[in-house]
Amino acid sequence: MKNVKSPSALKALAGAKCPQCRTGNMFVYPWWQVPKFSKFYQNCPTCQLRFDREPGFFHGAMYISYALIVAMVTNASLILYILFNNPPFEVYIYTIVLLNILLFPLLFRYSRVIYLYLFGGVKFDSSLPKKK
Ligand SMILES: [Zn+2]
Repeated sequence: MKNVKSPSALKALAGAKCPQCRTGNMFVYPWWQVPKFSKFYQNCPTCQLRFDREPGFFHGAMYISYALIVAMVTNASLILYILFNNPPFEVYIYTIVLLNILLFPLLFRYSRVIYLYLFGGVKFDSSLPKKK
């Protein structure tokens, strides 16, 4: 029997897939369904891995979220400074607030996904059944 090629860790992370099987979705709805973007499965629908590794596990995702927001603010400020020739201070504030509001679903989700990949203590298991 030919082995089905597994997705890379980076591709699975980008797609918010389970770190153990890399095929099961972590979140129930896509990120653009704003009212429900934060609803995630308790267990992987493919391999049954429990995503919330211990009580309060995802509180640590706040640190990842903080780092992502700092990176976003830094990049947005640099782009404004370079491309728009250092606009007034209010432009920086409005742009950063607007970006935070627009990107909140992505920041929320990826902070959890990255935290689970980094600190969840889960290893990829290629022997698990593939979705399809
Ligand atoms: Zn899984």
